[in-house]
Amino acid sequence: MDINKILSEIEEEIKPFLQQGKVADYIPALAHVDPDQFAMSVTLFDGTTYSIGCSDTKFSIQSISKVFTFTKSLNIYSKDLYKRVGKEPSGNPFNSLVQLEYEKGIPRNPFINAGAIVITDTLLSHYKTTNDTFEKILDFIKNVAHNDDITYDEEVYLSEYNHGYRNLALANLMKSFGNLENEVEDVVRSYFKHCSITMSTQELSRAMLFLANHGTDPISGEKFITDNQAKRVNAVMLTCGHYDASGEFAFHVGLPGKSGVGGGIVAVVPKLMSIAVFSPRLNSWGNSLAGTQALELFSQKSGLSVF
Ligand code: GLU
Repeated sequence: MDINKILSEIEEEIKPFLQQGKVADYIPALAHVDPDQFAMSVTLFDGTTYSIGCSDTKFSIQSISKVFTFTKSLNIYSKDLYKRVGKEPSGNPFNSLVQLEYEKGIPRNPFINAGAIVITDTLLSHYKTTNDTFEKILDFIKNVAHNDDITYDEEVYLSEYNHGYRNLALANLMKSFGNLENEVEDVVRSYFKHCSITMSTQELSRAMLFLANHGTDPISGEKFITDNQAKRVNAVMLTCGHYDASGEFAFHVGLPGKSGVGGGIVAVVPKLMSIAVFSPRLNSWGNSLAGTQALELFSQKSGLSVF
């Protein structure tokens, strides 16, 4: 397979899509990004990375951070985690309150906001302080990315906090049902902080490689999680990674993947490679429009999917 050729075709064919969609504007700090950017990186098991576009530009990973927090929490709590968060697609927007009310404060899955907030709460219970919790999440991401040069964007973090009414509402609702162990304020602050971590597509595709290889980094041989845990994380990415467009993504792309409102998407081709794309304009479900299209083109041209 000629990955260079596939990527340069995608770089051409993606152009008409780069003007479509709308940049996330629910917080001012994200509304400012240059909307026309595009990047895509593919990392193979021998460490070779192929990239097009602004692949070393760091952007707000937002909900992609939920892949790493879920992985970490599953590794710590194993099956007990599912007492507090489910593993079913929600069929609802990422920040919906309605389902949470009638399902008594147990979020459908770790990738909708409510679920990710519970996951952050489990990590806060484990690591005790908000500082240590954030540092451990960041360390984990640095370890899987084999890169020390990863940090967060203070402006995005503060912007999220100052406009975080709905996430605070979700956290308060779960607290009222007894599904948050720590103070709402501490949990939500930690959640916003890990959402505001910034990475490039090169860094993200490298960071996802262990999930393409049963939890073990194929380059260093380091085992981050068990085979079974890696299978679970991939399954939840496939079924819940794109909110209520997860079915669409499985239908068109056919790979476990996770999007973020910053315009990033990561995807995994089991036993072969990991992929990251970035383009800030979003479709109506809040997923990168050109990014989704680029992944669909990649899967069509390469013939790679889990189906
Ligand atoms: N920090 C964002 C929020 O909680 C994450 C949403 C996303 O990336 O989908 O609203």
